[in-house]
Amino acid sequence: MSATIGISVVVPCYNEEVSLHPFLQEITKTMDALVPILRENRDLLRQTLAQNLNSPALCSPASSASSTQEFIPYELIFVNDGSRDSTLSILEDIATSDANPNRRVQVFSFSRNFGKEAAILAGLERASGEGVVLLDADLQDPPGMIADMARIWLESSRQTKVIYARRTTRAGESKIRAALSEAFYKISNFISEVKIESGVRDFRLMDKEVVQALLEMKEYHRFSKAMFAWVGFKRECLEYEYIPHFKESSSWSFWKLFKYAIEGIVSFSTMPLRIAFVLGFFISAFAVCFGIYRIIDTILHGNAVAGYPSLIVIITFIGGIQLMLLGVIGEYIARIYEQVKMRPHFILNTRATRMSGAGSGAVLGVDSSEAESSSTPPKKTPRKTQSQQG
Ligand code: UDP
Ligand code: MG
Repeated sequence: MSATIGISVVVPCYNEEVSLHPFLQEITKTMDALVPILRENRDLLRQTLAQNLNSPALCSPASSASSTQEFIPYELIFVNDGSRDSTLSILEDIATSDANPNRRVQVFSFSRNFGKEAAILAGLERASGEGVVLLDADLQDPPGMIADMARIWLESSRQTKVIYARRTTRAGESKIRAALSEAFYKISNFISEVKIESGVRDFRLMDKEVVQALLEMKEYHRFSKAMFAWVGFKRECLEYEYIPHFKESSSWSFWKLFKYAIEGIVSFSTMPLRIAFVLGFFISAFAVCFGIYRIIDTILHGNAVAGYPSLIVIITFIGGIQLMLLGVIGEYIARIYEQVKMRPHFILNTRATRMSGAGSGAVLGVDSSEAESSSTPPKKTPRKTQSQQG
């Protein structure tokens, strides 16, 4: 009989050797303090709400998981994203030596660095909690906020399905970086139907139902920030002050951020293609008018072969615009290409798949079900088709 898990905490880790021990301390403190509340609400947590949505027959109390089913208050899922430092061995030690009866610890490791988005996806696919918390390992987002998130989630009887964190300051960021980030949000929100609030972090608690909705989105290029907004559901925002911590700087270089920004815009909007069309139309219209003007001018005043410099300017201008627009179209085609290749989002290093603690029967070793790679979510569960946007 499978166990019911209250909350899964998914932690992507890339070169986090400095942060992991303090992180474990903090998360243990927060989550252990939550255990009595989670146990009190175990009946609510045992209701497999997500499965009930499209199947009224399943809505009867009998459909709730049996009250004799094992209940594990929380689980920690660490995804090592191909770290180059000792992150993996620290994680393996944590999983091996964990004796906390309130939780189980799972560690998954990628064969190389596939990026945070892939690590988030791997964690979400493997999370079995009724609620799933996404949290960075570097303690830049305060784990203590999970207590407030869980309270809101449980007090609303799981109706508030997303409780997310938004930072109010950009402390620790250079002025240029902060200005570029703000510009990205403005441009992205202007051209895309999906609005992303500035300062919103990936740090959030999501009901299982939301996680399933996210896993049903099969795009190869995942842009979680917008995907979180796109799936909808009733949500609540918690604000906090972001404090630079441990690592001197973020692992996001300007180039990485630039690519991320392009990803955000192209993944959730086809507006750049429309802009290309409109721009092309106006430039052509201008060219036609200019041509007519030249013909009339020649008929009326004779042909003085003038305008060589302006000709060069116009040709290079139009050439530049064409190249740029080809680039825009190329961005979309590249995404189609990546998508049809159907490559997995990540490849797991099976020897580094560890599970220990409550509910695992203290198993430690290779998880053969994760043999190679994954690009698809596990079992598909029906979900609500009409979402409630908060
Ligand atoms: N991370 C990851 N893969 C990467 C980069 C980062 O799994 O390629 C993890 C990292 O370990 C951390 C989280 O993603 O837990 C956020 O990374 P970071 O602190 O560098 O980003 P920021 O705080 O600037 O958003
Ligand atoms: Mg960080």
